[in-house]
Amino acid sequence: MLDAAIERMLFGLSDEHVILEPISGQLLHPEALVAFERLRQDARAAGFEPRVVSGFRDFERQRTIWNGKAGGQRPLLDSGGEPLDAAALSPRDRVYAILRWSALPGASRHHWGTDFDVIDAAAVPEDYRPQLTPREVEDCGVFGPFHCWLDQRIAAGESHGLFRPYAEDRGGIAPERWHLSYAPRSRELDDLLTADGLRRLWEHNELELCDTVCANLDDIYRRFIRVPPECYPDTG
Ligand SMILES: [Zn+2]
Repeated sequence: MLDAAIERMLFGLSDEHVILEPISGQLLHPEALVAFERLRQDARAAGFEPRVVSGFRDFERQRTIWNGKAGGQRPLLDSGGEPLDAAALSPRDRVYAILRWSALPGASRHHWGTDFDVIDAAAVPEDYRPQLTPREVEDCGVFGPFHCWLDQRIAAGESHGLFRPYAEDRGGIAPERWHLSYAPRSRELDDLLTADGLRRLWEHNELELCDTVCANLDDIYRRFIRVPPECYPDTG
């Protein structure tokens, strides 16, 4: 059993482990914030302005997203980002469709504050509303040049511990080029997150489609929750 304080942090039930990033108003783990500020300095020298658009999210926020998609109040998207008809899908298909783009409450890396979504504010007008869609971040997309620059930094080991946990499709979560993670801390937390821990969490914090999720949890855990150790950079 995990220490209660660590478990609350792991599942997004506490916000004592995050602090304010003043430009975005988002909350980040202090070490992730330092890494982001260093990356931002480097990026500015290259003409980019990285901005956090989504940092820490707590359990309740993720549960609202999950339940909204499960219940059809929020749009459900296919792998290409096109809308799906939730009512036409079986519970199992609905669960897997949600998981393609949204994490289970308690299993979001955004709970940790080590992970955040980023745009290049220099590439768009101040009132631009980021969509966080594949089109924005592909090489010829509006944020493509920033992400190509960032790929080079990551490959060179010069990204201050930041990496892309969803760089490629491993048969689960769609690639999310906008999602960055501070590896030295997130790797530790990833190791603590287990399927049994999540089952216990949901016994006390109900979510929609829970029976279907629990019946498929081993497969979901492997494909959608766990980022394999070999995907983490060598952080020495
Ligand atoms: Zn994200």
